[in-house]
Amino acid sequence: NTSLAEFDPEVANAVAAELHRQQSTLEMIASENFTPVSVLQAQGSVLTNKYAEGYPGRRYYGGCENVDVIERLAIQRVKDLFGAGFANVQPHSGAQANACAMFALLQPGDTILGLDLAHGGHLTHGMRINFSGKLYNVVPYHVSESDGRVDMAEVERLALEHRPKLIVAGWSAYPRQLDFAEFRRIADSVDAYLMVDMAHFAGLVAAGLHPSPVPHAHVVTTTTHKTLGGPRGGVILTNEADLAKKINSAVFPGQQGGPLEHVIAGKAVAFKHAASPEFADRQRRTVEGAKILADRLSQPDAAAAGVKVLTGGTDVHLVLVDLVASELDGKQAEDRLHEVGITVNRNAVPNDPRPPMVTSGLRIGTPALATRGFGATDFTEVADIIATALQAAPDLADLRARVEVLAAKHPLYPTL
Ligand code: PLP
Repeated sequence: NTSLAEFDPEVANAVAAELHRQQSTLEMIASENFTPVSVLQAQGSVLTNKYAEGYPGRRYYGGCENVDVIERLAIQRVKDLFGAGFANVQPHSGAQANACAMFALLQPGDTILGLDLAHGGHLTHGMRINFSGKLYNVVPYHVSESDGRVDMAEVERLALEHRPKLIVAGWSAYPRQLDFAEFRRIADSVDAYLMVDMAHFAGLVAAGLHPSPVPHAHVVTTTTHKTLGGPRGGVILTNEADLAKKINSAVFPGQQGGPLEHVIAGKAVAFKHAASPEFADRQRRTVEGAKILADRLSQPDAAAAGVKVLTGGTDVHLVLVDLVASELDGKQAEDRLHEVGITVNRNAVPNDPRPPMVTSGLRIGTPALATRGFGATDFTEVADIIATALQAAPDLADLRARVEVLAAKHPLYPTL
């Protein structure tokens, strides 16, 4: 029963250093968030000790009476949150959720349509060396060159030409909303399933700030740790009664063994948070902050430095910055912001002339700062710091000092 600090100071010190990093810098990786202390407590609980293969009431292990309570709560809460008739809360991650959903709907060799990785899709939507690219015949669709938005005419043309069994709608790097009804119309016209991966924007959907894919898709997958702000994990939803059983058996025993009940407890707590007015306000500030950032990076001084906002703005929690015309590449821009205490990730832009490890873009998100309590005034200051940092020869010490003021104004995890 020795504490972590006593037993393993090497690990304990690295954890403490990570807490300090999160507290003292501004986290703007679009897929990250700060989960509440109540979720951390659930995740760090004795539930990690329990094997519970199977589903509530139908387990392959004894002693599951308490984890059954927890998993039922998680299922009911996420169904209520998104208006879904069925939920599986066991996928260990978003990638697992997608693998399980595809396993339920497809046979190896079937054709799928997904947004190209280089145009904002996720690895699991058909990247060549991902399971999705290896198991299925992938036909990628793209954003159009003219406006950077998903080219629905191309989606329809490719669907008619290739007659996929599944169309995947969803993204990891895209600043606009998708037209789920149009995706469904196209899927129906070729007798394909529609799967929406709302991993990035699920929090906005929960808050009613983004159209819900649930009424349109056969299956919806999500992560629980991005805008939703819960523990790292995945969920699968459907309203199709005949798919529920297939999804459950695709998750267990199809893809996974014992569920992570400590994470499922964290998911249950996170879904309770997500149903609150505070959560909705946080999502509102998230989108507001992204719009402020897009607007600031569209001003003449930014344009003069070769900074461009893809699609000219945002409807969601992130902004994609095009640096093709800047003297900074994606890596240099990421490093520059890191130096002033802002964490972002470099990101390829469509038809990027630079290699994937360098890229010509940035993906900048506002969910974690909104969770910290940032409002419009704070986001205006952050946006100005970023716009200034991306120009030639900025005063980095001054920018770093401005970041420190913001971090101090919104303390993170003060009780930890
Ligand atoms: N789906 C989308 C759209 C994502 O952006 C991501 C993660 O970046 C995933 C799935 C995978 O989630 P995880 O990292 O939990 O496997």
